[in-house]
Amino acid sequence: MRKLTILGATGSIGGSTLAVAAQNPELFDVVALAAGSNSQKMFELCCQWQPKYAAMACESAAAELRILLTQQGMATEVLAGETGLCQVASLDEVDTVMAAIVGAAGLMPTMAGVKAGKRILLANKEALVMSGQMFIDACREYGAELLPVDSEHNAIFQSLPEQVQRAMGHCDLEAAGVSKILLTGSGGPFRYTEVSELAAVTPAMAIAHPNWSMGPKISVDSATMMNKGLEFIEARWLFNATREQMDVIIHPQSVIHSMVQYKDGSVLAQMGLPDMRTPIACAMSYPERVDAGVAPLDFSQVGEFTFLKPDFARYPCLKLAMDACFSGQAATTALNAANEEAVAAFLDNRLGFIDIARVNSQVLASAPLVEPTDLESVIELDRMTRVLAQEVIRKVTL
Ligand code: NAD
Ligand code: MG
Repeated sequence: MRKLTILGATGSIGGSTLAVAAQNPELFDVVALAAGSNSQKMFELCCQWQPKYAAMACESAAAELRILLTQQGMATEVLAGETGLCQVASLDEVDTVMAAIVGAAGLMPTMAGVKAGKRILLANKEALVMSGQMFIDACREYGAELLPVDSEHNAIFQSLPEQVQRAMGHCDLEAAGVSKILLTGSGGPFRYTEVSELAAVTPAMAIAHPNWSMGPKISVDSATMMNKGLEFIEARWLFNATREQMDVIIHPQSVIHSMVQYKDGSVLAQMGLPDMRTPIACAMSYPERVDAGVAPLDFSQVGEFTFLKPDFARYPCLKLAMDACFSGQAATTALNAANEEAVAAFLDNRLGFIDIARVNSQVLASAPLVEPTDLESVIELDRMTRVLAQEVIRKVTL
């Protein structure tokens, strides 16, 4: 039986993880749940799952949760703050950590799981984008097993031979006969919108993704295709890939979740309905297969597969991220921080949709990009970049 901590339990990935656990109660034991500030949602999850521990990043939410649980006569122990999140990620009684906190806030708790040598099911791509080689090195040093949950990376993982699957972060694609990794993306809700109309996009329009149901931040990232940019960086680290070994292609139907091209001309793809329970179940049960509760793919209903090249005029964020990917750790750490601030401002109606790319590009051009040497300097660069991003956001909106 796998013993789980779920970081980001109240979110979209957290909910899908619990759905797979509910589908297979004899295989998964939910030991700890962790989230940001929604104490009511966490209380409901505690009532349903009776975890031994619950952690809330926000201290006041932890206090509320404690009261709710005590009133209910429940024994779940409540932990608080980043320390609490790190504690539940490194419990002795846990072997598997679902890393599904959104954004930079997930870095330290995920790293706590890595340093405790857990099996890490990685959904929190921002953590890897921010820390790259340090994250991969730590997995090796502490014997953590890294399994990709992001649907594209999970699709690539499934299309690679086992010796590569067992060496995430330090595999040799060329030796395995791989010529290219093909990251697919739907192109988001505005793939057919006139570029001149993008300025009028509202948060409600941006988070209405045509194929996937996801949290608000990643939904906006999908609309700008910054998500594919972050995934490009994520793929570089997970698959130890060079620039020449990676490409991005738009596939509006989201049935192929990504592909691997081999030197003999073969292309292997992983397909399925766009439902995160599939990659989550694959990572949770690896190398076995379990029922994810997802309907089988009916090809007679799929109709057509189409593909198109991404247009960087429509998706400037994608270009920014692809360029940053091989220009050093500081560039991707700073880009991630700028983007989180810009997306938050957009969701808060303080910034226009097309200004997200403008802010990201201006911040990247003016941030002091000193290469971070350890996690502390990553966090410091993240913090400084956010301050700069706030200034740029104020100027852009004047
Ligand atoms: P979400 O917004 O639905 O959920 C985010 C979770 O993080 C919530 O549980 C929230 O409480 C928690 N959280 C937020 N701030 C926190 C903080 N400061 N400390 C601790 N916890 C905090 O997001 P999501 O869509 O589930 O995405 C989670 C992660 O998975 C993201 O990194 C995203 O890129 C990645 N991902 C999501 C999907 C998807 O389909 N939703 C697919 C691939 C990858
Ligand atoms: Mg993805």
